[in-house]
Amino acid sequence: MKKRIYIAYTGGTIGMKPSQSGFVPVPGYLTETIANMPDFYHDDMPEFEINEYMPLIDSANVSPQIWHTIALDIQSRYDDFDGFIVLHGTDTMSYTASALSFIFEHLSKPIIITGSQIPLSQLRTDARINLLNALYIAAHHPINEVCLFFNNYLFRGNRTTKQYADGFDAFVSPNYAPLLEAGIEIKKLSKLPVAVPTEELVVRSIEVQSIAILHLFPGLNWQVLDNLLKSPLKALVLLTYGVGNAQQDKQLLDTLKRASERGILIVNCSQCLKGAVNMQGYATGHALNEAGVISGGDMTTEAVIAKLYYLLSQSLPHQELIEFFQSDLRGELG
Ligand code: ASP
Repeated sequence: MKKRIYIAYTGGTIGMKPSQSGFVPVPGYLTETIANMPDFYHDDMPEFEINEYMPLIDSANVSPQIWHTIALDIQSRYDDFDGFIVLHGTDTMSYTASALSFIFEHLSKPIIITGSQIPLSQLRTDARINLLNALYIAAHHPINEVCLFFNNYLFRGNRTTKQYADGFDAFVSPNYAPLLEAGIEIKKLSKLPVAVPTEELVVRSIEVQSIAILHLFPGLNWQVLDNLLKSPLKALVLLTYGVGNAQQDKQLLDTLKRASERGILIVNCSQCLKGAVNMQGYATGHALNEAGVISGGDMTTEAVIAKLYYLLSQSLPHQELIEFFQSDLRGELG
């Protein structure tokens, strides 16, 4: 029996059509293009059904509401399909992959998010190889988690980040090895989850929350931070230097301390792509710890944002919120 895969097409370059003003998403165009590509109907390919969302969006317009819509859509078809593919623009693909990983608990089927840098209808497209492999892997090498497939690698979705604006290797997973490599063989590169959960699928809520990111730089005026923290924030992500260091500016540190005492969660994430935060390494990091800042460990910024949205949507007591944030919930934290 052939496996059945559901494809949710949300928008993005993969299905766009050339127009006088550049590439634009056009309803029906992706489905029609695939229907004319015999490779998708090869004997070794699974059966698939495509649902084009209305309207198709550029992923720059993605929001937590859209993550919720995708999750409910997959949940409503969960029993009817063996796996799920989400076609999505690359710009915010890692945010969506991270968010879906927190929304779905006890997944027993694969969800693979993919897209492309060049539309499927174009000569030098990377969409054909991305979508063919995503379908093939969902059917023949299923991994029960939210994954991202791009340029011959299957990644854990919440470990990825977009690294290359216009290259085919658009995504990396800086702190976690890819799960599979689609070479001559489909090769396992990481320890994969073996147990299929026995619990029922749970779909968690995720809502917009008032959070912000501040990228530190030499000479940052503490009053800018102070003003930001006066807005009705629930959490602030500080993008710090190296292993989690910040300038030892007393006014800046006092501002952070006052905010964390008011209950604003302040998270320390590194500006570096690779490695983890360690606030015990240098006095400049230790000072942040003393000011009540908590560590983002080796999580990507995308995973941190999605995790904050997710946890803040669960109405947890403050201490539990901190504990959950610093625990590994879906393989996002080393
Ligand atoms: N701007 C597009 C999007 O993210 C880029 C892409 O699809 O790759 O929707």
